[in-house]
Amino acid sequence: MAINNFLLFSLTFQLLLLLRGSSESSRITGDVSRTPKKFLELAKSPDLFDWMVSIRRKIHENPELGFEEYETSKLIRSELDLMGVKYRYPVAITGVVGYIGTGEPPFVALRADMDALPMQEDVEWAHKSKVPGKMHACGHDGHVAMLLGAAKMLQEHRQDLQGTVVLIFQPAEEVFAGAKKMIEEGALKHVEAIFGIHLTNRVPFGKTASLAGSLLAGSGFFEAVVTGKGGHAAIPQHTIDPVIAASSVVLSLQHLVSRETDPLDSKVVTVSMVHGGNAFNVIPDSITLGGTLRAFTGFSQLQQGVKEVITKQATVHRCNASVNLTPHGKEQVPPLVNDMDLYKQFKNMVGDLLGEESFVEASPVMGGEDFSYFAEAIPGHFSFLGMQDETKSYASTHSSLYRVNEDALPYGAAMHASMAVRYLKDKDSKGSNSKKDRTLKPLSDFITTLFIVHWIFL
Ligand SMILES: [Zn+2]
Ligand SMILES: [Zn+2]
Repeated sequence: MAINNFLLFSLTFQLLLLLRGSSESSRITGDVSRTPKKFLELAKSPDLFDWMVSIRRKIHENPELGFEEYETSKLIRSELDLMGVKYRYPVAITGVVGYIGTGEPPFVALRADMDALPMQEDVEWAHKSKVPGKMHACGHDGHVAMLLGAAKMLQEHRQDLQGTVVLIFQPAEEVFAGAKKMIEEGALKHVEAIFGIHLTNRVPFGKTASLAGSLLAGSGFFEAVVTGKGGHAAIPQHTIDPVIAASSVVLSLQHLVSRETDPLDSKVVTVSMVHGGNAFNVIPDSITLGGTLRAFTGFSQLQQGVKEVITKQATVHRCNASVNLTPHGKEQVPPLVNDMDLYKQFKNMVGDLLGEESFVEASPVMGGEDFSYFAEAIPGHFSFLGMQDETKSYASTHSSLYRVNEDALPYGAAMHASMAVRYLKDKDSKGSNSKKDRTLKPLSDFITTLFIVHWIFL
């Protein structure tokens, strides 16, 4: 009996150890857990670095505006073809959506924007824009190069991916909210989280900045035509002067922020254009004015306020006003809100990849970014990658003197790749643990109960 009991105890104990061992091994994720730390080394290797720089320079020489990024898109697709990465095209006219990994869930997306700005480059260098009046002055050429760099590394480590990385090359960030159109055309299908990176000269080189919650404001535009009745400037009583009405509109719009907004709630209303009249002695028939509004909360109320102030102030001065809130097709963009969990994952990843001191807690800014459409649809995280070098000064974005510090490209590529791998790895370990909980725990509980019952009754 004692021998039987001993044998049963021994067998049961070994079975329990076996079950415990198998649940431990389900947490081991092989190469995936070690790969992220290699990505910066890989991205800095001369081959990959020079390749990213050459791609960035090609795109810089041939800047294309929103929804016209045909050559940029073609270059991206030819590089993905060479890597053997499958993709969907066209998505939102020129957009490309690539897929690396198992083709199975979970799906995590990385995003780069592709469009340039309608401005003349004033930087004299070998790869200056070859298209007069168009320039990559927001670093989107660098963003494409960084994401292609990440794609190359991820494709080489595709056997380590526990899911699918979705590469989103998006058109028309600057004006036409290309992100919105990408979502409408299914770019986020199956995707459960998305990450975006923007180069900036406001953060030191090699560091990255973000925050949890509201990072960038919602932004929108307005254009209004205030119409009166023109006439001789010396006989104003026979006119309905739109200049006075428009002047009143400009001043009254300031009260929306200074008098009607909680001082602790940041908002901006800026009138940046006033056009009208072309003679010293003629009162014009109409004045056109326009500008932008920014807010983290209450964006649609602010829009409504802008519309009311313009039309009602025009009426006070016996004029009419029409207001367009999407002038020249310029779409409004919602506030960009970073997901708390993704922010924590991102911060941990930066600590592992670059060191904790390389993470900078960002302050919210009133600028807008259409990545907010993605982050509104699914959990998203947007960060800034620093390129400010103490030895050189870099002009701000949207400046004709804007330059990208190309030494930052490997950092962006490594951050993209590391974040995707980490996200999939975390999802996999959570999935493994919950699977273990669902299947192994009841079985081990059952055997433990058998074991106890056996000792009590025999
Ligand atoms: Zn921009
Ligand atoms: Zn930008």
